[in-house]
Amino acid sequence: MRSVSLPDGTELPNLGLGTWYIGDSRNRRDEEIRALRTGVDFGMNLIDTAEMYGDGASEQLVGEAIDGLRDEVFLVSKVYPHNATIEGVADACEASLKRLGTDRLDLYLLHWRGGVPLAETVEGFERLIAQGKILRWGVSNFDPGDMDELSDVPGGGAVATNQVLYNLSTRGIEWDLLPEARANGLPIMAYSPVDQARLLQDGDLIELAGDLGVSAAQLALAWAIDGGGVIAIPKAGWAEHVEENAEAAELILSDEIRAELDALFPPPNGREPLAIL
Ligand code: NDP
Repeated sequence: MRSVSLPDGTELPNLGLGTWYIGDSRNRRDEEIRALRTGVDFGMNLIDTAEMYGDGASEQLVGEAIDGLRDEVFLVSKVYPHNATIEGVADACEASLKRLGTDRLDLYLLHWRGGVPLAETVEGFERLIAQGKILRWGVSNFDPGDMDELSDVPGGGAVATNQVLYNLSTRGIEWDLLPEARANGLPIMAYSPVDQARLLQDGDLIELAGDLGVSAAQLALAWAIDGGGVIAIPKAGWAEHVEENAEAAELILSDEIRAELDALFPPPNGREPLAIL
């Protein structure tokens, strides 16, 4: 699997594992655990979760899945904006660590921007780093203006990533956020990289993928990570889907295929408001 560097030099796989809606259903538990463990086996050893997902159920299932594998996994979780005060972030982190059955997060993200001043959230994150409870912090759903404000906050330059919506159907960040992040050496984490499975029903994409001998999911994922500096985190609740997704990392797209994808899913031709789910 190709890798993407964090600003501190840590190398991450360019495909990880999303977990929204994972852990919600009791009778899918074993299969979902198998899916996550398969992903780790195939090198997708970045797992993304959040206190929000299933009200802690996702973190709990991830905790079970990584039991005995903690050191092999780069673990990402997120704090609600309303918990992102100095005390709130400490409490939320403690609760996430407990559900995940671990003593540290590799990366802790502010899930989206809320009413708490950024300076306070950054200070809360820095205190958690000093205590060894998180190793780095980042943000999610931040537009270019939010990123500028963050860089003016004391310590704000330590941001490790911005996790945003990015897939063939939602390409607005290519106008500003993505090139700016690349110029700053900041990886973007692409959420909903197969547009919550909608892309997998797209007849044109299915046909183009079929011509290449791959699946629509593989083509969509290979496209998302193709230009570098992007880590895509598809969610898949079946080991077979995860295995299929992992294979996308090996797929290199020709200029011709990229042009065909541009014709089907046009890039932005001007600044667009950041798309958010
Ligand atoms: P995705 O684009 O990852 O789509 C997930 C859906 O695609 C699931 O229904 C899954 O089905 C299906 N799928 C994935 N791979 C395959 C495959 N190979 N074959 C068939 N179906 C497939 O959407 P998400 O919204 O889940 O985004 C990914 C992750 O990003 C989330 O899980 C979460 O961790 C994160 N996220 C972050 C947000 C934020 O605000 N920071 C917002 C949204 C997501 P099945 O489960 O049946 O395999």
